[in-house]
Amino acid sequence: MSTFLSAKYRDLEPYTPGEQPRDMQYVKLNTNESPFPPSEKARKRAQEVIGRLQLYSDPECTELVQTAAGLYGISPEEILFSNGSDEILDFIFMAYCDEEHPAVFPDITYGFYPVFAQINRVPYEEIPLEEDFSIDPKSYQKPGRTVFLANPNAPTGIALSLEQIEEILQSHPENVVVIDEAYVDFGAESCIPLIHRYNNLLVVQTFSKSRSLAGARLGFAVGNRELIRDLRTVKYSVNPYNVNSMTMAAGIGALEDEEYRIRNCAVIMENRAYTERELQNLGFSMTSSSSNFIFVKHPKIPGEELYLELKKRGVLIRHFSKERIRDYNRITIGTREQMDILIREVREILDSRKS
Ligand code: PMP
Repeated sequence: MSTFLSAKYRDLEPYTPGEQPRDMQYVKLNTNESPFPPSEKARKRAQEVIGRLQLYSDPECTELVQTAAGLYGISPEEILFSNGSDEILDFIFMAYCDEEHPAVFPDITYGFYPVFAQINRVPYEEIPLEEDFSIDPKSYQKPGRTVFLANPNAPTGIALSLEQIEEILQSHPENVVVIDEAYVDFGAESCIPLIHRYNNLLVVQTFSKSRSLAGARLGFAVGNRELIRDLRTVKYSVNPYNVNSMTMAAGIGALEDEEYRIRNCAVIMENRAYTERELQNLGFSMTSSSSNFIFVKHPKIPGEELYLELKKRGVLIRHFSKERIRDYNRITIGTREQMDILIREVREILDSRKS
């Protein structure tokens, strides 16, 4: 740390992204990316704009907004795009959290929420998940707080039902409730249709998972037009050209290929069920996942040891050192071939410990 750093950032603990090692070719099951490349339509669209990169991107994201609004049955004033969903989550912390409106989220959830709270100097409360890692909607019904819930939650993969989310939305109409649907396409139900009934609801989604565009950085929020207007004010005060032209084009192409997204999600869900069965046969237990990852533990091998052993063998999974979940590992669901390598290596590690 230099002596020049503002005192307001001296205690900042930055987010730790999953490893992106370049030292060898890993079977990469650690950051919940899609194992499938972007849709052909996305690639073609992105290539078409490279020759026009001397121009700024469209700050209104006009064509992307229209395409998405058509797909989701909403009006263009009800959606705003961002540089990955991380950026719009930051905008939301800026817009709706302060001393009078602390942020609230589970103790075990997406690790960026506390970082956004810290950098925006917003107080926050972490509510412990239940013993089985589920969320009790009642815990989020206290007034005066801005609620952040990943649905399905990460890294547990457990989803809330729309009824449970509605309970939270109804309990305090003066609280903004943010539902982060990064993983919704892998088996949960989206809240987007609820935005016309609840003016305190913001739904956040990403193109990084089911649409295979993690490297392009594209996310969005959907909500009542007044909320979206607030977020536009923040965006135009921070970075009006937040979505670059290539990403915008790729995003339009991805939205034009719903069939590809749906097919890929079906494969991931099938591979998830397969991996769960195989790992259960090897003695693992796991939460009930509606995501493109599973959250597993084994009675005979500590989470960190399994992670390190697999890494030595060229398979990357994600281990978190947080006390409550240190026995667990989060494993991204990839292709069937990748899952077979994982299962084979896990079996060998367990066998070698027996002998
Ligand atoms: N929300 C959750 C729950 C996530 O796990 C992630 C990805 N790590 C994000 C948001 C951010 O995704 P992105 O910025 O790639 O859109």
